[in-house]
Parts: sequence; C-alpha cells; structure tokens
Amino acid sequence: MATALKLGRKLPAAGITVLEKEDAVGRHQSTHNSGVLHCGLYYKPGSAKARLAVSGVQEMTAFCQENNVPHEICGKLVVAVDESEVPRLRDLQERGTKNGLQGMRWLHREQMLEVEPHVGGVAALAVPQEGIVDYGKVCEAVVGKIRAQGSRVVTSAKVTALKPRERGWVAETAAGDFEGDYIVNCGGLHSDRVSELAGEKREVRIVPFRGEYYKLKAERQSLVRNLIYPVPDPQFPFLGVHFTRLIHGGMEAGPNAVLAFAREGYRKTDLNIADLFDAISFSGLWRFLNKHKRMCWDELCRSFSKNLFCQSLQRLVPDIRMEDLETGGAGVRAQAMSPVGDLVHDFCFVERRNALHVLNAPSPAATASLAIGEEIATMVSKGVQA
Ligand SMILES: Cc1cc2nc3c(=O)[nH]c(=O)nc-3n(C[C@H](O)[C@H](O)[C@H](O)COP(=O)(O)OP(=O)(O)OC[C@H]3O[C@@H](n4cnc5c(N)ncnc54)[C@H](O)[C@@H]3O)c2cc1C
Repeated sequence: MATALKLGRKLPAAGITVLEKEDAVGRHQSTHNSGVLHCGLYYKPGSAKARLAVSGVQEMTAFCQENNVPHEICGKLVVAVDESEVPRLRDLQERGTKNGLQGMRWLHREQMLEVEPHVGGVAALAVPQEGIVDYGKVCEAVVGKIRAQGSRVVTSAKVTALKPRERGWVAETAAGDFEGDYIVNCGGLHSDRVSELAGEKREVRIVPFRGEYYKLKAERQSLVRNLIYPVPDPQFPFLGVHFTRLIHGGMEAGPNAVLAFAREGYRKTDLNIADLFDAISFSGLWRFLNKHKRMCWDELCRSFSKNLFCQSLQRLVPDIRMEDLETGGAGVRAQAMSPVGDLVHDFCFVERRNALHVLNAPSPAATASLAIGEEIATMVSKGVQA
C-alpha cells in the first residue's frame, strides 16, 4: 500500500489498483508485528535495510504526525546480559554510527538502572530514535490517501493467475480480471508464489517463521518502562525476544522465531498441507535445519515451554516470573531463504521488463514501508519510461 501511495505520486496519470486477497487490508504481517519504529541500528552499513530504515523511520514518524496516527519516540535499551556480549554490543554501536544514528549512549550498570530500574545485564546501548506506533492506523491512513489520489483498493481479490499480454498483464482474481501494464508484487508471505504466477522460478523461497508473544499482567507492567532488547545473534535476522510497550497501553514480551507449518499459521496447531509440502520439498530448508539444528530445536522447545520463554526474558529483567506472563498474540514472518539454506538478510527487489517482485521485506519493513514504497516507485517509473 505504501508502494501504491508512492506510485500514485510519482506517476499521477497512471491508474493504480491494489489487489488484496483478504476482506480488508493489513491482515497479515503489517498488523501482526511488534509495533516498533526501528531506526537502523542492526543492519549492515550500505545495505538496503540500513539505508531505508534510517530514512524510513523519519518519514514514518512525520507521516504519523501529519495523519494523527498514535506513536511515540520513547527510545530503547539494547542490553549485554554478561561480559561475553559486550564486544557484540560495541559492534552494534559501531554499525549504528556507520548508519548515521546520532545520540546513542553507552550505559554502565548504574546508568542503565536510571533508564530502566529493573533491567539486568552489565552494559547497555541507549538508542533514542526508536519508538512505538499503531501500524493498523498507519494502514488505514495510507488506504485513505491511496483512494483520495484516485487509485483503487480492491479487497477479496486473491490473485490466482497472471497472464502476460503483448503489453502488460491480466491478473485473474477472485473479484474478476484486472488488466495492467505493470505489476508490482508485494505479496508478503506469498510473494514467491505470486512471482511464480508471473513466470519466475522460485529459487529463493518464503519460509514462515512464527513469532509468539506473551503479555505482562497489568500489575507487573511497571517492571519495564519502554523497550528492552537483547544483543541479537548476527547469524539471524531476528532480534531475540524483547520487551515492548504498546502504544495503546500494555506490555508485550516476544517474539520468538519458530518454523511454522502454515504461512498464515498464527497458532501452534495451525497446519496447511500445501505450505508444509512446499517447505519440506525445498532443499534450502533441509540445509538450513542441518546448519542450525540447535537453534531450531531450542526455539521449538521455548515455544512449548513457558518456563524457557520466561528464562529468556529473565536475562533482560531478572524479576519477571512465569505467573507475570499471559499468552499473547502471534505474527508470521515472511522470511526468504536461498537454495543453500541461508536466510536472506537484506530487502530483495527483483526487476523485470514490466514487473517488480518484492521477494524479501522482513523487519524493519513496516517502519521503512514509505521509504521502500518510494524506492520501488522510482524503479517502476524508470521501467515504465524505458
Ligand atoms: C512477529 C513480527 C514482528 C515484527 N515487528 C516489526 C516491528 O516492530 N517493526 C517493523 O518495522 N517491522 C516489523 N515486522 C516486519 C513487518 O511487519 C513486515 O516487514 C511488513 O509488515 C511487511 O509488509 P508487506 O506489505 O510486505 O507484507 P504483508 O503485511 O504481509 O502484506 C502482504 C499482503 O499481500 C496479500 N496477498 C498475499 N498473496 C496475495 C494474492 N495472491 N492476491 C492478493 N493479495 C495477496 C496478503 O493478504 C497481505 O495483505 C515484524 C513482523 C513480524 C511477523
């Protein structure tokens, strides 16, 4: 939708139609997430993620201000729980500096406690630009703007076929056929399948990783003021279970990262045979499992054991107890995986003559959505003019 908004501004004469399979927009990743405004701390300098997160958080914050979307720049702490994590936290600080973040502060134990009185650990990085937001309201505001600029948003319109024409495409959908010169595939958890409908080979495949949350009981929410994150494992694009204050009140803990048996499997028991077959027939997944057996097993155990989940949280806030946690919601990440079993870390855009496929747009793609939309709109307008 951010792409449609930006395309409409860049190509005002073009007729733009958003085809959405659900009966409303924003039913999947964009509203099943942590609600955090990420500012570009984690990402490899020079990567699309680093560039678009840094400009994206500024643009998203301005958008929220202009459109009365609830948000708050509250800052966060990234915590080294013991001395062994300090060098990785220093690396993170260096990354943030290279990515252009200003105002980060290195905190020793006493200084950490002034910011978060119940935090554990030996050192922390305070990142002032991070915030929290209601992404559901962002979606609503974007849809309003898309419609106001004369573009269409058609819901209950699952794209089931993309037929090439001499010039452009016909998209067959549950809501009828739509003709267009150019397609932009922002299919999230199904983006690889949509690309296949347009004749692409699915070399990189979407593998769903569910992220489960707990909620902190009201009487224990005072244990955390804002956002408390661990030092992430640089091998994986996931940030590790953390504490997040919600923009409308309440406190969440999570998400973990468990391989899901369904691309839209929000519950542990959800299983979709087609999705499961798709995953197990992909050699990349077996290679990934082979390389990261321990991590996958630990994540699975932690998904089924509240005690293990709580132990991860206690590394950040030692006073948290199992009885403080209530089962919360979940989201499923559309994570692209290569045939050799590597997780694709950066955003991935594949350009064709009259199509562009977004094949990897994981976190922080909600924060960076407007900046991503701008980037795509620039690529598309060049493609259309060529
Ligand atoms: C647990 C979790 C926590 C996260 N936390 C954060 C965070 O705090 N901050 C942040 O910036 N990012 C976060 N992210 C990442 C962020 O939510 C996503 O990167 C972003 O929402 C991706 O947006 P999208 O439009 O690509 O995908 P989606 O929001 O999933 O949208 C894709 C859309 O395509 C539609 N679709 C799919 N197939 C078809 C078809 N065949 N026909 C028609 N429509 C179709 C779907 O119904 C869906 O509406 C998180 C993600 C998860 C899962």
